Amino acid sequence: MTAVPCRLWLIALSLAMAPAVAWQPARAADVATNKAAVEQSLTAQYPHLEALYKDIHAHPELSFQEKRTAAELAAEMRGLGFEVTEGVGRTGIVALYRNGAGPTVMVRTELDALPLLEKTGLPYASTAKQMLRGVETPVAHACGHDIHMAVWVAVAKTLIEMKDQWSGTLMFVGQPAEEAGGGAAAMVKDGIFTRFPKPDVGFALHVGPGPFGYVTYKPGVINSTSDGFAITFIGKGGHGSRPHVTIDPVMMAGHFIVDVQSVVSREKDAARFGVVTVGAVEAGNAGNVIPDTATLRGTIRTYDEDTRAKLIEGVERTARAVAMMAAAPEPEIKMSEGAKAVINDDTLALRSAAVLKAAFGDKARQISAPGTASEDYSEFVKAGVPSFYFGIGGLDPEAVAESQANNISLPGNHSPRFAPVPEPTIRAGALAMSLVVLDALQKK
Ligand SMILES: [Zn+2]
Ligand SMILES: [Zn+2]
Repeated sequence: MTAVPCRLWLIALSLAMAPAVAWQPARAADVATNKAAVEQSLTAQYPHLEALYKDIHAHPELSFQEKRTAAELAAEMRGLGFEVTEGVGRTGIVALYRNGAGPTVMVRTELDALPLLEKTGLPYASTAKQMLRGVETPVAHACGHDIHMAVWVAVAKTLIEMKDQWSGTLMFVGQPAEEAGGGAAAMVKDGIFTRFPKPDVGFALHVGPGPFGYVTYKPGVINSTSDGFAITFIGKGGHGSRPHVTIDPVMMAGHFIVDVQSVVSREKDAARFGVVTVGAVEAGNAGNVIPDTATLRGTIRTYDEDTRAKLIEGVERTARAVAMMAAAPEPEIKMSEGAKAVINDDTLALRSAAVLKAAFGDKARQISAPGTASEDYSEFVKAGVPSFYFGIGGLDPEAVAESQANNISLPGNHSPRFAPVPEPTIRAGALAMSLVVLDALQKK
């Protein structure tokens, strides 16, 4: 033990860890001034932002195939005077804008969309198709990453127009493959924090099915861990009329889908969050043929490592047990580690929350529990970038209130009917992001 009192150690430690610029808490009057300037910029930009949003929405691209999207954003950023590097982590982009001494602040958007058929009925709905694992599939921006991209461009333009108000370096990152996972890790592996300045802080946001004009935030853990699995049950195919001479892998798949839920309901601590979902079932292509194999793909979500380990072990054990019950060979089990939980930096979250409160009033709300989705932004946090990841709503507040009153849920992220309302959503997102970034880059 040391003779130095703990308090002094804490002070010494916090000084050693203090960022290059000593931040002062934001004053409400400064936030109000910045808010007025940002809103003025957004009003002037809005027609361009909406056109950009609709173009990206109508041309979605799958994870690591975001070539058109990346090129479009790179052109936008070059037009604003950013120094842009493409192809970072395969299809990612890094855009830098140096504006004097001060911290480097990262703002991240995702670039990718999802393999599903859009059913919003919007005039700018996607009809795009791309190849996924050798099969042509419809593609749609059903997670709102197109909103994030429009916000990202809006924030970049706003901050450049306001460059007399701040000093430091903007690092705008367009990350590929958030949906499939692996995009942030690919950028880290490709040297995003060695070939380019390492950010002092980072920001990202996500749109959800809450009311537009609202922002939500939380210090600490903000969303879940995510692991994927693919399990192939190996049977013995044959005629559907003679099951006794086969080993039926479809039956095994059925057992597994039901039995694995008892790991969640009987083995997991009921007080801890954990989900196992089987989202894809691939087996056979004729009603009268028992196929040789059946493959299931699924996802495991938790908030903590113990629960994660328990669910992974339970999934693997259930798969082996089901095969054993059918006197089948061991199944092939492939686990793929996805994202860790995103953990917000407490200090940055508190000061950013104060800015959001000052600007949005009652429409800025701290949430009590993390979300159940996950996000590989955690790779940037893991690489040492203290971050603030927050949420914005995207739906009509009246529709949200009505759905809550009737206890029905509106289509949210990953639904083919998820349809954020562009103008208020993009404007609120861009306002929130611009203000927290301005706060991080405030002049001494
Ligand atoms: Zn998503
Ligand atoms: Zn998303």
